[in-house]
Amino acid sequence: MRLEDQERSSNIEDRRGMRVGRGVAGGGIGVVVIALIAMFLGVDPSLVLDSALTTGPGQQAPQQQVGARAPSRDDKMADFVAAVLGSTEETWSEIFTRGGRTYRKPVLVLFSGAVQSACGYAQAAVGPFYCPTDQKLYIDLAFYRDLQDRFRAPGDFAQAYVIAHEIGHHVQNLLGLSERVQRARQQASEREGNQLSVRLELQADCYAGVWGHYAAQHDLLEPGDAEEGLRAAASIGDDRLQRQSQGRVVPESFTHGSSEQRVEWLRRGMENGQMDSCNTFGGR
Ligand SMILES: [Zn+2]
Repeated sequence: MRLEDQERSSNIEDRRGMRVGRGVAGGGIGVVVIALIAMFLGVDPSLVLDSALTTGPGQQAPQQQVGARAPSRDDKMADFVAAVLGSTEETWSEIFTRGGRTYRKPVLVLFSGAVQSACGYAQAAVGPFYCPTDQKLYIDLAFYRDLQDRFRAPGDFAQAYVIAHEIGHHVQNLLGLSERVQRARQQASEREGNQLSVRLELQADCYAGVWGHYAAQHDLLEPGDAEEGLRAAASIGDDRLQRQSQGRVVPESFTHGSSEQRVEWLRRGMENGQMDSCNTFGGR
């Protein structure tokens, strides 16, 4: 990616190196220990933890900017994250404005090891996630090492896709989609609930693609970047992860979609650059 001229976001909260106790309650919601889930990229605690939703996600979350600022340019990884976040802010502000809405910029929290979010206590093992209650994205940069070594999806665009996917969840939250799906899930069987979750995740992938389209238009991409992103999407499909972790594939238990689906929706977003092309809830 070419990010030298990209404006950095200052909505970064750096909690790296901070110790987190499990006994600390966050946001009036009881502390919930998120079990170590071997499913990376967007194990969204809001969708796992019902208790986090009793307050209802959506519009009332305060915009906490305490301590949020752009990291130093010498801090290479943090600077990269700030640039990508800045680019997503421009993309979504533009798209929202076009639709007569205002895009509320989320805060991205960098942490190491474990973190306390309004959705509960999370360990880095859950992977990057978005908490709709406090409207923050959480990422332990060590995940990028996993993405490269364990999931064999190297490259800066692959790393950017991880952020863009979580931003996709923020967009869903602002539009009230996550809340609607969560409500539907409460009425649904486990199998149907999983299918709803897959549709929500694939839409977040498609929204990540919409950002990718914008990034390409703004000349932020280099040759091979799109392929990197698609390779990353393929490497974290539920079928691939299940085969790696348990040696077999159980499609009914998918919560994020197969590799093929993830690639398809990311590509769709990248090619069209329109939110309308991301209706994963229509049809089938
Ligand atoms: Zn996700």
